[in-house]
Amino acid sequence: MSSPFVSRHIGSDSDEHTHMLKVVGHNSLDELMDAAIPESIRFHGELDLPAGISEEEAIAELRVIASRNTVATPMIGLGYYGTHTPAVIKRNVLESPAWYTAYTPYQPEISQGRLEALLNFQTMVTDLTGLTTANASMLDEATAVAEAMTLARRASKVKSLVYAVDADTLPQTLAVLRTRAEPLGLQVVLVDLDTEELPEEFFGLHLQYPGASGAIRDHQALVEAAHAKGALVTVAADLLALTLLRAPGEVGVDIAAGTTQRFGVPLGFGGPHAGYLAVRAGLERSLPGRLVGVSKDADGAPAYRLALQTREQHIRREKATSNICTAQVLLAVMAGMYAVYHGPAGLRAIAERTHGQAKKIAAGLAAAGVEITQAAFFDTVTARVPGKAAAIVAAAATQNVDLRLVDADHVSISTDETTTSAHVATVLQAFGATKTEKSGEAVIPAALNRTTDYLTHPVFNTHHSETAMLRYLRKLSDRDYALDRGMIPLGSCTMKLNATTEMEAVTWPEFANIHPYAPKSQTQGYEDLVAQLEAWLAEITGYDAVSVQPNAGSQGELAGLLAIRGYHRDRGESHRDVCLIPSSAHGTNAASAVMAGMRVVVVACDADGNVDLTDLDAKIEKHRENLSAIMVTYPSTHGVYETSIAELCGKVHDAGGQVYVDGANLNALVGFAKPGKFGADVSHLNLHKTFCIPHGGGGPGVGPVAVREHLAAFLPGDPLETGDHHAVSAAAHGSAGILPISWAYVRMMGPDGLAAATAAAVLSANYVAARLRDHYPVLYAGNNGLVAHECILDLRPITKATGVSVDDVAKRLIDYGFHAPTMSFPVAGTLMVEPTESEDLAELDRFIAAMISIKGEIDQVASGVWPKDDNPLSNAPHTASAVSADEWAHPYPRSVAGFPEGVDRTAKYWPPVRRIDGAFGDRNLVCSCPSPEAFED
Ligand SMILES: *Cc1c(COP(=O)(O)O)cnc(C)c1O
Repeated sequence: MSSPFVSRHIGSDSDEHTHMLKVVGHNSLDELMDAAIPESIRFHGELDLPAGISEEEAIAELRVIASRNTVATPMIGLGYYGTHTPAVIKRNVLESPAWYTAYTPYQPEISQGRLEALLNFQTMVTDLTGLTTANASMLDEATAVAEAMTLARRASKVKSLVYAVDADTLPQTLAVLRTRAEPLGLQVVLVDLDTEELPEEFFGLHLQYPGASGAIRDHQALVEAAHAKGALVTVAADLLALTLLRAPGEVGVDIAAGTTQRFGVPLGFGGPHAGYLAVRAGLERSLPGRLVGVSKDADGAPAYRLALQTREQHIRREKATSNICTAQVLLAVMAGMYAVYHGPAGLRAIAERTHGQAKKIAAGLAAAGVEITQAAFFDTVTARVPGKAAAIVAAAATQNVDLRLVDADHVSISTDETTTSAHVATVLQAFGATKTEKSGEAVIPAALNRTTDYLTHPVFNTHHSETAMLRYLRKLSDRDYALDRGMIPLGSCTMKLNATTEMEAVTWPEFANIHPYAPKSQTQGYEDLVAQLEAWLAEITGYDAVSVQPNAGSQGELAGLLAIRGYHRDRGESHRDVCLIPSSAHGTNAASAVMAGMRVVVVACDADGNVDLTDLDAKIEKHRENLSAIMVTYPSTHGVYETSIAELCGKVHDAGGQVYVDGANLNALVGFAKPGKFGADVSHLNLHKTFCIPHGGGGPGVGPVAVREHLAAFLPGDPLETGDHHAVSAAAHGSAGILPISWAYVRMMGPDGLAAATAAAVLSANYVAARLRDHYPVLYAGNNGLVAHECILDLRPITKATGVSVDDVAKRLIDYGFHAPTMSFPVAGTLMVEPTESEDLAELDRFIAAMISIKGEIDQVASGVWPKDDNPLSNAPHTASAVSADEWAHPYPRSVAGFPEGVDRTAKYWPPVRRIDGAFGDRNLVCSCPSPEAFED
């Protein structure tokens, strides 16, 4: 008996399946799957997973796991702090499907709400850092600093490969920096800024502000010295501290990076939180990651969209400089809203209170004769207590307060907005200091005081009451189209159900409020959950070991390639550095290979969209000696189960190479084929695609890396104790806080439910392909003319004949109440549709009807009924304002514009802007909040 949840997750029921199977031409789901999947890779057993359970039972099990975590007061610091998530933001952003089920805003006309929220985030970062341009989030502080390092390398004219790094940098950042520097040949050289000189030559200088010890240093002279040598200066700066401290931009720093966790984002045992990256003028066009900018729509009204999209790694492939794709949008929205809600004065008050508590601790310790290692600090005090550090940390722990054990002689204490006077008293007691002292003196040197304004834009000075905030959040989310409105049929991104039950545990304090470096004795629940999930994922994929540390698919790719690199080097074959990548690959693949120190060699695809085995043979022959790996996506990015996969794996292995299977399309395999068993050595999965973590508008994600036995020793390790291991994110288990989502999905579905989901997904895709084939050519198919879990509709002949573009169809779908499919990936001029198992037949039929109706409109353009440049497609999407305007000069009626066939007039989604001019915005780059006057008519 399947768990009752299975029929909640899978949208279509068995009657609907019967109907769809008839259209597809098969008698049963089993028969369909037998016909679609090559026998050579087929897994015929049942996954060895616990039987599925109900939603109530899953919640009960999660409660037990959660109870094995201990919520303590986290005064450990190191970039992670206690914070109060304003309830209005917790419920209406973090727990609201309008925000968490949205997709990356590639269709800007239906994403204006989250684009505005991200513009707030960018403005907050640039204001506080004093720099000019910030992107819309990074994965965490450590990876943001790694991106700052490579950006500095690209921008510096100095030849040196030395990155001089402040010895007071956070240890996890150092671990990730070393991991990322080594394959690129960059040298991380630590410098004790208090006692040592800068190296003779270096391309970049990295500073931590405040330092890990809590010390704040005046960086002015260092910045000048570095610039004099032609180096760039990067700084990891704490945004809350910057409300009180002089901004990095004011001392000439070139790049700032860091985290926004303490702006209302729960700790979650390490994530997800939004990292940030900001640059001075002149570097904005080399900034990695997504950047929101202001442009205008067809009426000239201001409108937001992703700027400079051609920089994205999808386009740049092997020329890419970064592999970041999925970022931390949902968390960036939260952090930005925290600034909107508190405003500049509110943030400053939080910072002053935090600073005040730290001063009280310092004064109390000093009065008791304890030595403090630094005179100037913001929120962190380091005490020198020879031989007594462990005992003091233990004493505080008995009172449920976690301090940082630096070494046998030093303890650090960090305060935050949640620190109370009771906490201060507990800390002092642990040191044997009896009474709290009044702390009068200023400990921030006058030269380091912030004197410039920040967050002066009205958006940060308007929504301070809860009513105003609630309405602002609602206004923005109403502008957007997310899964709570209708299907998002995106190829490659599996926008399936994110069940409420799966989301529930994320905000429980036992998962949300755990510091990533809390003592192991407090985190048993998390360790159990991670171990169980990793074991289940290993069983599902057929691999031997899994690490959930990578906090996006891209990071899983890097971790997997680094494992391959480590393996070859370990065998004395470090010359193996060629990575073969099919021309159809996702852009992150090539970018990750470059970051892992590999040379990318592209393998052609044949006319059927499969890897061209003749070209593969040729490329293997040419690079046999140096072959490191091949990276292939399976099923292919064309949405097809390629029959040659097992043969392909054999060829690469015979030449001494390793096989990397990009597992982003695992939704077509779970329960039916295991990459680890059909010839691959390593894969990454995307838990934010196949395993129900919501897309969040472009993040968070989790990209576990899974390997066979021989690569297990090369998986990422704990960044605080890496030894020989590398680390790809700042916390041992990456974005652990959202792992309960995927845990709950697997637990509730069980082995039969998971396989049923795969079959339903494949059936849905084939049903869509079969119904639309007569209207739009379906580009590729595999065995028996079947596609896998997605299909590509070829618009190119239509575009050629009529001028109607893939863009026109995508924008017209908005008028019909749909999010467009993936546009022009992996083939330019096409649409890729992935319906997923979660959509029911009615929704699939509504989409199919819309596509057929649009084809009818295209025919009207083709036959000359409507002019090529003035028709419902070229003018799409239509806003309520355009449709109700007093003048209407188009050759088709208003009703066709606003209420095309099949649209429910009582539940119409109106896009807030008309089609956006992207090129205009790229020429006139504006990446912070525009003044309110810009919106006047
Ligand atoms: C989504 C995707 C990736 C990248 O994953 P992110 O989480 O966005 O970094 C890689 N490969 C393929 C095929 C994908 O679809």
